[in-house]
Formats: sequence, structure tokens, C-alpha cells
Amino acid sequence: MKLIATSTTDETSISTQAGAISVGISSCLLGNEVRYNGGHSHSKLCTRLLAEHFNFRSFCPEVATGLGVPRPTLRLVGDPNAPRLVFSNDQQQEVTERFQQAVTPVMDSLAQLDGYILMKNSPSCGLERVKVYQANGHPHPQRSMGLFTQTLKARYPDLPVEEEGRLNDDRLRENFILRVYAHHHFRVLVDGNLSLGRLMAFHRDYKYVLMAHSQTEYRSLGRLLAEAEPGQIATLRDQYHQRFMQAIAKPASRRNHCNVLLHIFGYLKRSVQQQARRQILTLIERYRDGEVNLATPLAMLEHYVNLHGSDYIRGQRYLKPYPAQLGLANRL
Ligand code: SF4
Repeated sequence: MKLIATSTTDETSISTQAGAISVGISSCLLGNEVRYNGGHSHSKLCTRLLAEHFNFRSFCPEVATGLGVPRPTLRLVGDPNAPRLVFSNDQQQEVTERFQQAVTPVMDSLAQLDGYILMKNSPSCGLERVKVYQANGHPHPQRSMGLFTQTLKARYPDLPVEEEGRLNDDRLRENFILRVYAHHHFRVLVDGNLSLGRLMAFHRDYKYVLMAHSQTEYRSLGRLLAEAEPGQIATLRDQYHQRFMQAIAKPASRRNHCNVLLHIFGYLKRSVQQQARRQILTLIERYRDGEVNLATPLAMLEHYVNLHGSDYIRGQRYLKPYPAQLGLANRL
């Protein structure tokens, strides 16, 4: 994996190796020395594992604002629903407007991203639980989101975003990467040539991914497409995309995975010999009981689906939602 060093004063440029999927990232997480104290917050998970699969685009909103490195620390103050950004050592010096003027023009260039990884606790980049200080110097009980993240989420509400620290949790990491790949597939396969047929094909291929998260939403989204009015394709696309991304926003439960595994097994019942059928069922039960990880029954099912499955079942994204090299299902 090769990282191309980015300048600390021009963080809007593309920063890492070629790859089909572009993901934005807080610059300090790539090891760039852009923090207030001239340091970085290098994330090995990002630069060693994820950079093999993602084309990272780093950005430091505080550097882009022209605050320099090193610089005094910033903090959020005031109303947690509309906080202002000030210097911690001089709260009369507000930088909110200057910050927004630097960050807003960058938003257009992020339209091709499929995800964003953010640095926790930062008044600029934090995703949640960022402190907002009151006039008495104490943090407000209600926490907020960093100012850059607020702007990002307002502009791209369906973009998968996650804090780097949370990616150390196996289930949260798997869920984030699943969402990034789903976002990418949608952008390429549906938005690349928008039509009702493309939306339906996407819904068909993501059937079991959706079912692993919510059977109700899978059916409801199916109805949305089936009842679509002609000529409403752009609105339909937005509704579907928003509800789809929301439906998969939380990790799927073990119980739902078992249900999906059994559904897929149902397609093989007639074509697979009894002994193999028993082995598959045993592995699904062992997964249900927490004795083996998800990759174990999945690998066996995939093997038989490749041998005997129809195009329909072979095309299910659930069997290959992201590259196996990421090793995500081994840890579920
Ligand atoms: S957290 Fe954000 S603003 Fe702070 S150094 Fe990292 S990239 Fe820059």
C-alpha cells in the first residue's frame, strides 16, 4: 500500500492509491501532521487494511480554513443545536463563518465519495458526542456534531459516515464497509443509467442484504417500486436510496443472518445431496449458537450456490457484499 503524502496546506486533493471506491477521511487519520499541536492521529486500520480497498481522499477543514499548524485549539460553544466555533483560549474570536466559507465550496467535490471516516471528539470532524461549552465554561449536557460533519451530513445525508474509533468494533466495521459498498454499487449501477428497471435489479440483488437487516423494509421498498408512477423516476430514486441506506444503517442480528442463510439454503434443497444438506444445516445451527462465525456457513453455501444455484441466487450481494480479503464475516 502506497500513501502519497499530502501537503498540510492543501488537504482537498486526492491522497492515496488508486482504487474504485473513494472514501473521505479526516486528514490526521492518515498520519498527516495537521493537528493543532503539529501531530497526527494515524490510524493503522485505515492505512494498512482499508487503504488496500479504498481510495482515500483526505481533508483537514481547520487547515483549509487557514488556521495553520500548529494553532490554538478550537471548541464549540452556545446552542448545541446550532453551535459556534471559537478559539478555546479566546472565545471572542469566532471562526464559524470563516470555517463555513472554507468548507462549503469543498462539498461539491465530494459527490463521488461512497463513505467518510471521521476523527472522534473533534469540534470540526467529530460525528457525535462532541462537547459544546456554555458561558460558565462547563460542557452542555447535550452533545453535538463537529461543524464540518454537520455540513457534510446536511449535503449528503445518505453517505455512510463513521468515526475511526468505532471501526475497531467488528460489527460496526462490517456494517460501515457493507454500506460503503452498497452506496458504491447504487451509484454505479443505478445512478449510472437511472431507470425503474435498474432500481428493480438493485432491489433484487440486495434482497437478502435487506432481509438480514429488516424484512419489513425489504417488503416495503418492494412495494414502493411496484407501485411507482411513470415519470417519477428521480423522486423514486431519492426515496428508495434514502430508505435503503437507512434500512442497512445498523448491523444485522445473528438471528436475521440465520433466517437469510436458511432462505438461501432453500434454493439448494433439491440439487444438493442429503449429506451436504445436513452439513450446511449443522453449520447454520452452530453459527446460531455462536460456535462458529458467519463466514463458515456462508462459505459452504456459496460453494454449493456456485455449483448448483440459479443466476438469481448467484447474483445475490449477500453472498459477496464486499471483498472476502477484508475478512469481515470471519469476525461476525
Ligand atoms: S480532526 Fe479534523 S480538523 Fe482536526 S486535525 Fe484531524 S482532520 Fe484536521
